[in-house]
Amino acid sequence: MNVIYPLAVPKGRRLCCEVCEAPAERVCAACTVTYYCGVVHQKADWHSVHEKICQLLIPLRTSMPFYNSEEERQHGLQQLQQRQKHLIEFCYMVAQKYLFEGKYEDAVPAALHSLRFRMAMHGLSSVELVPAYLLLAEASLGLGQIVQAEEYLSQAQWTVLKSTDCNNATYSLLHRNLGLLYMAKGNYEEARYHLANDVSEIWHKYLNDHYQVLSQARIQQLDLLGKPFVNDTGLDEAQEAEAIQILTSILNFRESTPDKSPQKTAFVLKTLTMLYYQMMNSSKAQEYAMRALTLAKDQQLTVQEQNSIQELLSLISAEEDRPIS
Ligand SMILES: [Zn+2]
Ligand SMILES: [Zn+2]
Repeated sequence: MNVIYPLAVPKGRRLCCEVCEAPAERVCAACTVTYYCGVVHQKADWHSVHEKICQLLIPLRTSMPFYNSEEERQHGLQQLQQRQKHLIEFCYMVAQKYLFEGKYEDAVPAALHSLRFRMAMHGLSSVELVPAYLLLAEASLGLGQIVQAEEYLSQAQWTVLKSTDCNNATYSLLHRNLGLLYMAKGNYEEARYHLANDVSEIWHKYLNDHYQVLSQARIQQLDLLGKPFVNDTGLDEAQEAEAIQILTSILNFRESTPDKSPQKTAFVLKTLTMLYYQMMNSSKAQEYAMRALTLAKDQQLTVQEQNSIQELLSLISAEEDRPIS
């Protein structure tokens, strides 16, 4: 870590801490454009993300150089926006990685950066802010800061309500976090609402469309690209992780409370089966399909329901028998 100096605040300029926005007392000696209320927040930020972006912040936070022409000025502006975009994504990724590792404390400064860069670029009410609010909510929940989590979630919810374009993964993430929040507060009715079937239906519909094409191709031993199938969900890694997390959250919730509609639980199990099948994870797919089948038999679900699960199972085992070339 770099040597830090007490900060002499220029007259008339109020500088804020990068982490808590309290009046600043120190500056990062390496970039000289990042301020902190004290050594605790400076260390926290350095450890989380500042070490990785310290030098990248300099051009963003120093005043624009003098340009000779309008063309040069435009080019400079464009470059600045590119940098900002890169930082939004980078900080988001870093925060997400900490969350996956259960390092909630470390996730906070990185997530805050992603949020502030998003605000600077897209304004205060853009749906682009939602993923960052959700990261912060999840980190707060992990830290047991329920009130804080609730604040971030209501910001996210409000922004989503006002917007018309919000994708599956974001919508699902919002409901999972709200579900977890209400579970933490012991409000199972609200939790039930947010971990309800309409969220799994979104994934089911998406996966089912893919599944139809895939299963046909596989039955006919067709190879769409002339080589063995690889990951076929059409989702990126983070979206796959989100689908798994929301579906298992819904499943755990259904299984931990008295189940009045086993066919809905079977539906979630089948959606998880399709997801793992498309992710080429046969053993997981088989596990969920078997659980669905056992449930369908124990609860005496319709023959049609049992047959559809059988069909899934035979597809998975056909996949397992295929030699890997
Ligand atoms: Zn601070
Ligand atoms: Zn710095």
